[in-house]
Amino acid sequence: MIVMKFGGTSIEDARAMRNMCGIVKGRVKRKPVVVLSACAGVTDALIRCARAAAEGNEAEAQRILRREIVERHYDIVQGVLTDLGRQDRLIRELSAFSEELRHLLYGLSITGDLSPRVLDFVMSYGERMSTLIAASALQEMDVRAVLTDARACIMTDSTFGKAEPDLRETTARCQQTIRPRIAAGEVPVIQGFIGANEQGITTTLGRGGSDFSAAVIGAVLHAEDIEIWTDVDGILTADPKIVPDARRVEELSFHEASELAYFGAKVLHPSTLIPAMEKNIPVHIYNSRRPEAGGTLIKPRVSPTSSTVKSISYKRGVTVLNISSARMLGNYGFMKKIFDVFHEHRTSVDLVTTSEVSVSLSIESTPALEDLVRDLERHGAVQKQTGRAIVCVVGERIRAEKGIAARVFDRLRDIPIEMISQGASEINLTFVIDEKHVPRVVRDLHDEFFPRTGS
Ligand code: ADP
Ligand code: ASP
Ligand code: MG
Repeated sequence: MIVMKFGGTSIEDARAMRNMCGIVKGRVKRKPVVVLSACAGVTDALIRCARAAAEGNEAEAQRILRREIVERHYDIVQGVLTDLGRQDRLIRELSAFSEELRHLLYGLSITGDLSPRVLDFVMSYGERMSTLIAASALQEMDVRAVLTDARACIMTDSTFGKAEPDLRETTARCQQTIRPRIAAGEVPVIQGFIGANEQGITTTLGRGGSDFSAAVIGAVLHAEDIEIWTDVDGILTADPKIVPDARRVEELSFHEASELAYFGAKVLHPSTLIPAMEKNIPVHIYNSRRPEAGGTLIKPRVSPTSSTVKSISYKRGVTVLNISSARMLGNYGFMKKIFDVFHEHRTSVDLVTTSEVSVSLSIESTPALEDLVRDLERHGAVQKQTGRAIVCVVGERIRAEKGIAARVFDRLRDIPIEMISQGASEINLTFVIDEKHVPRVVRDLHDEFFPRTGS
């Protein structure tokens, strides 16, 4: 069996939805499990309407719900399904969802209390609506699709907004709910991004989490392949939004792709490769609009290519904290105390550099920042710099080849660089800059390592 995950743009309208059905139908012999995101923009719209309601602007909330969510799905139903009975049934089911959301928004406008738990529940409607439509559309194309609720498959902890799957329980549930359907020749269609905790309360795995759902389902069911279908030809040499002529990378090792995903390449959720790596399952990235383009294959080991650097990623919204203290000198418990504070605030640290009397750490921006800084101040003077970005240059051979760092920093000689780290695995070179320099830095490094042919 294989897992096929389609992102929001791959099902954004009736045409895209039909295209997705065609791609799935072409792979039915391989026993696919289909994992879907919400239609593009819907999760954002759900968050906006929940926030508007909680801020007391109920009319605006209901307007977003109607215009940007409900009507959008009705349009897709009408554009994708030809059978009128089926259309009717779906519109009825969608309007039941719409009613629930309408009441929820009304409640939020009264209580004003948008907890992470409620927000997860509101967001879950995006994937529940897209899969409802997709399963029917596949059935109409004679694929034996069965809508399967992710909340009966993926059990998570209760960290609303960024829940962690419990792999043991998730394995048992997937074996119970998904496996028999595959054996019966059916094609399960499951929501990405959402799961449920032990009490059955809806959780989400973090923004962009459908990739992670696909990898978890693939790993627990021992899939032969995990396919991530998106809107670009694969993992490219840089984000095409910054470097329009970025090129497709044919193959990447698990380690290379993990570094890229972790340091900002949005095409893969940062946790996606962990379950796939553990079970040695190849991950393919394909363009749903251009399946013939070839894609990127991510596997345990890859053969050397002519290019040492494979790709350049960046992550905005980074904060650097500099903690200095004379007590750090010769005090072997200092680092532990500092890391305990990050642990207490459930904040993960990306980069660390130290000097004799200070340590600099980079973290993603977090609402816990003020509290975190206050607790760190118990151990030394804390300086914080917000509005930073991490840039990461990745390639297995960086470890062996001399002169890569010199080329990077020579190229960027007039840009202030704040923290430099050659990752522990030595397959990346990572540093921090002011966010405003991101486009120039990424473009310059791309020119350096992937010069345009003929130039
Ligand atoms: P989906 O909705 O299919 O999950 P995403 O928007 O989450 O798609 O991810 C695809 C986007 O990732 C691309 O449109 C591209 O802008 C961005 N991206 C960032 N870095 C890279 C990269 N190195 N290679 C390919 N895409 C990248
Ligand atoms: N729909 C969710 C989001 O927008 C999950 C995903 O697309 O992977 O974050
Ligand atoms: Mg995504």
